[in-house]
Amino acid sequence: LEEQLRKSDTLNVVGELAAGIAHEIRNPMTSLKGFIQLLEGNMKDDYSMYFNVITSELSRIESIITEFLILARPQAIKYLKKDISIIMSDTIELLSAQAILVNVQMKLKVEEQLPLIYCEPNQLKQVFINVLKNAIEVMPNGGQVDVEIRRRDEEHLTVSIKDRGFGIPEDKIKRLGQPFYTTKERGTGLGLMVSYKIIEEHNGIVEVESEEGKGTTFHITLPVFQGKKSNNE
Ligand code: ADP
Ligand code: MG
Repeated sequence: LEEQLRKSDTLNVVGELAAGIAHEIRNPMTSLKGFIQLLEGNMKDDYSMYFNVITSELSRIESIITEFLILARPQAIKYLKKDISIIMSDTIELLSAQAILVNVQMKLKVEEQLPLIYCEPNQLKQVFINVLKNAIEVMPNGGQVDVEIRRRDEEHLTVSIKDRGFGIPEDKIKRLGQPFYTTKERGTGLGLMVSYKIIEEHNGIVEVESEEGKGTTFHITLPVFQGKKSNNE
């Protein structure tokens, strides 16, 4: 528990810093992009390769900033009673075009009569996007991602996202969720950090099961809605 608390302290500081810096970087980025587009329109074709690199590096910076802002954004947090399976099926739909491109199918299985949860739906959606994207990215030759939602016990339900990718070495599992930990050439190493923080704020936990060469399952356990918080829908 102490370890968990320390981790969350670090995340809070990072979050506060991130909000400030991210906003400051975003504006000059926008004008940079605009001028580069202008330049590109006036250049000979020989240079198009350079422009591709510039554009892709710029979008990498943008995605880092976007992930930081999600993490730091304090406004518009509204907890609601929700059916988690709907949040998940919306997310799967959102990512399906991207998955089809690499031949990945996402299959959703939901236990019947699942209780509602009390959550910030946009944030949970962000978590599902991050974890599903990782799953898709570790299956370059396609395959199936299984998403299962079931009741864990009286008070919790578990969302399991199982890929058939290359897995994670055991000694690296504890590095998941650390800022900037990435093994991808174009990764940000922020997706899981954001996700872990959001799940923590929902009083949930993330467990990772992985076998090298076989695949990885992320189990996200969340408390079910219990009381009668009457003024919330
Ligand atoms: P990014 O995707 O930008 O690298 P993430 O925070 O989403 O950042 O993930 C961090 C790292 O965790 C990844 O680079 C990868 O090494 C590892 N990882 C996450 N999900 C999986 C997965 N499903 N299978 C294998 N490795 C994973
Ligand atoms: Mg990722």
